[in-house]
Amino acid sequence: MPTGTKAAESYIEKPKTLAALRDGIANGRLKAADLANEYYQRIEKLNPRLNVYLSLTKDRALAQAERIDAMAAKGDPLPVLAGVPVGIKDVLVMQGAPSTAGSKILQGYRPPYDATAVARLEAAGALLLGKLNCDEFAMGSSNENSAYGPVRNPVDPERVPGGSSGGSAAAVAANLAVGTLGSDTGGSIRQPASFCGVVGVLPTYGRVSRYGLIAFASSLDRVGPFAANVRDAATLLGVIAGHDPKDATSSLAPVEDYAAESDKPPAGLRVGVPAEYFAEGLDPEVRAPIEKGIAALERAGCAIKPVSLPHTKYAVPTYYLVATAEASANLARFDGVRYGYRSPRSATLSDMYSHSRNEGFGPEVKRRILLGTYALSAGYYDAYYLKAQQVRRLLAEEFLRAFAQVDAIVTPTSPVPAFKLGEKTGDPLAMYLADIYTVTASLAGICGVAVPCGATKAGLPVGMQILAAHLRESTAFRLARAMEAADLILR
Ligand code: GLN
Repeated sequence: MPTGTKAAESYIEKPKTLAALRDGIANGRLKAADLANEYYQRIEKLNPRLNVYLSLTKDRALAQAERIDAMAAKGDPLPVLAGVPVGIKDVLVMQGAPSTAGSKILQGYRPPYDATAVARLEAAGALLLGKLNCDEFAMGSSNENSAYGPVRNPVDPERVPGGSSGGSAAAVAANLAVGTLGSDTGGSIRQPASFCGVVGVLPTYGRVSRYGLIAFASSLDRVGPFAANVRDAATLLGVIAGHDPKDATSSLAPVEDYAAESDKPPAGLRVGVPAEYFAEGLDPEVRAPIEKGIAALERAGCAIKPVSLPHTKYAVPTYYLVATAEASANLARFDGVRYGYRSPRSATLSDMYSHSRNEGFGPEVKRRILLGTYALSAGYYDAYYLKAQQVRRLLAEEFLRAFAQVDAIVTPTSPVPAFKLGEKTGDPLAMYLADIYTVTASLAGICGVAVPCGATKAGLPVGMQILAAHLRESTAFRLARAMEAADLILR
């Protein structure tokens, strides 16, 4: 990063690796309780500026730390995430903890159970520090749609961290957690990871249970991890992945040892570069580092091949039809009756519904409910929703054809680097169009990893998106490791 252009105020700090934490705890040099306290102190110091955490779950983290320290003192074998401080996006429920999904409508809601991914992290020894800020119901690309205020990007607090999992990405970038969970429906893990300079994983649809994820668009929603390095992201995915009887769409396929797989050198892998992702609209400051990243993969022994994904141009409209249609159905349950916000100024039942929803939902969520309801309404269904489903199928088939020729596809994650707070809030369409490179994999159900790949001249992180076919996470991780090795040289 060229000095002098670096933001005057930066909160970037690299967390310790999972291996270093575990070794330290196993040999008694580190105490899980001290770690938890250190992280809470850092959160106390930085959160007023960055607005990353919405709530803290100290009792639960400290009780777990005590259990881990007792195990270490006895010399018991430690689970893989023993003492690792993690944060959870507020769309994933945690028993007894506030779970707002970034919305006013869920203010005060304390769910009676844990999301499966959250329970699995804790069962593997992680310390659950608290809940992370995000766009309301995960709808957005900048975190500015949170009812609790935007997250600021730790690289430059005048800029957005990306969204919707902005808190999850910023927490890792600023070392307010070692790993975090986010959700990705159309890019919400990959894009903020790229904006904040961390690693984000989009698992194959069905690879990680959605049980306990507050639904946005059920056929697109995925839960996935963030970490400061690829190997740790791979380890986190290994912990949360796998069949869950509580999610009928979760895959029965065995879970690979992603971390070990990521150790394999990438030589011999065939890497596709789709021309459609390097066309008009791509900021040259993003294009340049990505091209250098591709050259680095070639030097690492990968065969670079052009591929074509011609339906890419239809991906944004297709995504915004499918996602809004499903959202309009999923969000029907927030009516003031069972949980969350209820408007106090209602004389009749129907008044209560409409006032609660009108006062509880923010403008972006209302826009999506309206768009989705319209797309599903009689007379328009065939023209919009059905057509979108057909295009979705074409996009998926196009990816499968490409994956018959290459092992992975690399693209920029976002056409632009992190933008300034407020820069795009007045133009929702411009915000939607910037999702162009991420919504395609969401519609196709395939997996991917977003990994840091150099920076702009001003020092803003750029992210490479590495996509692989269904359940081929290991391939994406191998390439991401190679990209990570090249990243520092690109800066
Ligand atoms: N930015 C996209 C949207 O606003 C994706 C959000 C997501 O992946 N949750 O819908």
